[in-house]
Amino acid sequence: MGRTWSDRYYGNDFDSRIYYQDLTMGIHDYVLTLILRVFLRQANPPVGQTQFQAIDTDGNIAPGIQWPLAEWEAFRREFKRQAYMVFNNALMLIPPKDYDGFTDPLGNRRNVRCWLEIDLVEQAAENVHVVDVVRLAHPGDWLRANAGLPGRPGLFTSDNTKPTHTIGSLPQPIRYRRVHGKMRITGGSSHEGDYVWEQHALPHEVGHMLGLDHSNEGSAACKKEPNSAACYGLFLSDRLNIMGSGDALDVQNAQPWIKRITRHAPPTKPAEWTVDFVSSEARTRGLSLRST
Ligand SMILES: [Zn+2]
Repeated sequence: MGRTWSDRYYGNDFDSRIYYQDLTMGIHDYVLTLILRVFLRQANPPVGQTQFQAIDTDGNIAPGIQWPLAEWEAFRREFKRQAYMVFNNALMLIPPKDYDGFTDPLGNRRNVRCWLEIDLVEQAAENVHVVDVVRLAHPGDWLRANAGLPGRPGLFTSDNTKPTHTIGSLPQPIRYRRVHGKMRITGGSSHEGDYVWEQHALPHEVGHMLGLDHSNEGSAACKKEPNSAACYGLFLSDRLNIMGSGDALDVQNAQPWIKRITRHAPPTKPAEWTVDFVSSEARTRGLSLRST
């Protein structure tokens, strides 16, 4: 089934476009770029004051001070750079078997790479994610980063460009499953010693802006206690994920691209598309686990 797809889509969360493009040295592929509009808004003290009290959604308070221009520009650059490091050129969508819309000039079927572009804008609008950014008077003070919601600005601090560290012993919960009538037991082992891994808060929040939930958001434990540790994953792979408490990607993180490509390429359905990593680099990206 040959067919046409549309190269632009205008969403109320983000826009997107598809190009057939030269990625490197004559290697062409289709690229689906989600174009996220973000208004990073300086949270500065009122005129005549040098400080103000910034407050997060949990009620934590920290003093904020004026942004100097060079630091502000550096923050904006880091916001984009870190998000691109995590999400760009890592995942690809494989079209459904009976869909031949994405072919090269020779007629070979091609995949669609997932790409992200952040447009930093200077004005709030319906399809713009607005985030107030506080320059902490005392680096190390903690406010909860928050991507915001439509009509409700989020919150970042100057410290969010630095990675946070999680120390864990990575216990694997025991799981019982019935496979072909037989009981299977998995998990239960635990690594010796403790491990440390990193997370960058800004790409995590960009994941929320794209519509991604925490890696274990659907679990009963997380529903009972929103924002508790359980939401960020019990299994190691969930905990190390960018939507858990790490920096790594998983094929689940392609959901925003999958949902969107069905808008570009009807009548395909999300469940008909599969996802893979584009390279072994992408598969292990952000997996920096070290023992203490
Ligand atoms: Zn989160």
